[in-house]
Amino acid sequence: MITLDNIEKSFGDNHVLRGVSIAVPEGSVTALIGASGSGKSTLLRCVNLLEIPQSGTVRVDDTAISFAPGARIGRDAILALRRKTGMVFQNFQLFPHLTVLGNVMESLTTVLKWPRERAEARARDLLEKVGMTAKADAWPSSLSGGQQQRVAIARALAPSPRVLLCDEPTSALDPQLAAEVVEVLAQLARDGTTMLMATHDLRLAATIASNVVFLQAGTVIEAGPAQQVFHKPAQEQTRKFISVLT
Ligand code: ADP
Ligand code: MG
Repeated sequence: MITLDNIEKSFGDNHVLRGVSIAVPEGSVTALIGASGSGKSTLLRCVNLLEIPQSGTVRVDDTAISFAPGARIGRDAILALRRKTGMVFQNFQLFPHLTVLGNVMESLTTVLKWPRERAEARARDLLEKVGMTAKADAWPSSLSGGQQQRVAIARALAPSPRVLLCDEPTSALDPQLAAEVVEVLAQLARDGTTMLMATHDLRLAATIASNVVFLQAGTVIEAGPAQQVFHKPAQEQTRKFISVLT
């Protein structure tokens, strides 16, 4: 569903992604693990082109864009690819001036120009899926972090993206609230939602990921089925990283 081929990304002379290639199969949950600063967020942001790689190819579903230094990429191509993705951020980033329902409807009415009634029906379905029906008319500021993140997940799913990108979806939450969010993500995983999730929470990764990619200093050290990477890592660096955090 997602293929990244040889992605290079630098910020000034900080060479953050060094020829990263990964594949995220349809219906899988791929956890992107690695130390803080290893490039996880940058890699996720390259998938939906919030960051533009200097070179390499990004493909999501049937839409691919190849980057090269100096090449101009059309805005339409970027938007087409971005619309295949939904993103969930560490700090939720709900629209504070919209209710819970309004947050989930927003992209449907403004970007997709759906009639209000249809958008509301879709939004209510999604709020039910994440267990937030009772809070449809609440303001984000009145919700717990776990509730805000569940709304953010519903909002990301509203336009039916092909993949859900999650950047540290539980790391701003205390364990009990994180558990609510993990439960929602686990249910989505069981429903076959394709996800790419950056996390340094190995327990979260072990709970819901089918595949794991271990990134170190912008290089993929090891990638494979979660069972294998966690229990029989092929690389010494992976073994070390996992042992420090468990
Ligand atoms: P991780 O998510 O694994 O902690 P990041 O992708 O956030 O890693 O960061 C990797 C490196 O890229 C860090 O050195 C960080 O300072 C740098 N970086 C990330 N985003 C930017 C940016 N927008 N501008 C400059 N440097 C950035
Ligand atoms: Mg990060």
